[in-house]
Amino acid sequence: MAEERSGGEKDEKRERSGRGVSRRGLLIGGAVVVGGGAALFHEELGRLWWRVPGVDKQRNDGDVDHRGAQWIAASEANLRYADRPADFTVDRVVIHVTEGSYATAVRVFRDPLHAAAAHYVVRAKDGHIAQMARELDVAFHAGNREYNERSVGIEHEGFVDKPETLTDVMYRSSARLAADICARYGIPVDREHIIGHNEVPGATHTDPGRHWDWDKYMRLVREAARRST
Ligand SMILES: [Zn+2]
Repeated sequence: MAEERSGGEKDEKRERSGRGVSRRGLLIGGAVVVGGGAALFHEELGRLWWRVPGVDKQRNDGDVDHRGAQWIAASEANLRYADRPADFTVDRVVIHVTEGSYATAVRVFRDPLHAAAAHYVVRAKDGHIAQMARELDVAFHAGNREYNERSVGIEHEGFVDKPETLTDVMYRSSARLAADICARYGIPVDREHIIGHNEVPGATHTDPGRHWDWDKYMRLVREAARRST
């Protein structure tokens, strides 16, 4: 399941407050004066502008990155605005199992106090997909700042100790989603790039667990990738 952000993310969140933004604005202004040249100004802006909320890409309610997904916005407290893949290379898909129901996952990701969310939640009974964070944004799901920045997180309704909760229709729907993500960012379809939450460096979570059928999942992702090309 999604995991609380690291300490670094908390600092980042403070930066997003009004005070942090204006301080950032002063820093950018200061760079202009110090450098005295347009080149440095643009270099500074190029490095920093994405940190300032409200100046990046248009965010339209209802727009989704994966066709057929349903947009259900997570609380913005559980993610960080970014402009991926322009500011961070996206080269990992992180697989989670929620240890709870689809409805619970959707509810807690909408809760600003939960401190975690994934980009997608897949429902067990029919493979329905909720997109809760935009792929351009960094969702707090991996418990590792670098891996949050470089990955798209997929939650699956179910329990790691109850293999019967991991349904065939959910595997298939998720595999189509993972293949779509890999195609859009040029991510190789292999186990180095499609990983479990437990494989994130420093992970304290064990999901998706020993019953997650990686052989089946990777076969389905490869098939979906082949069909779409
Ligand atoms: Zn997880």
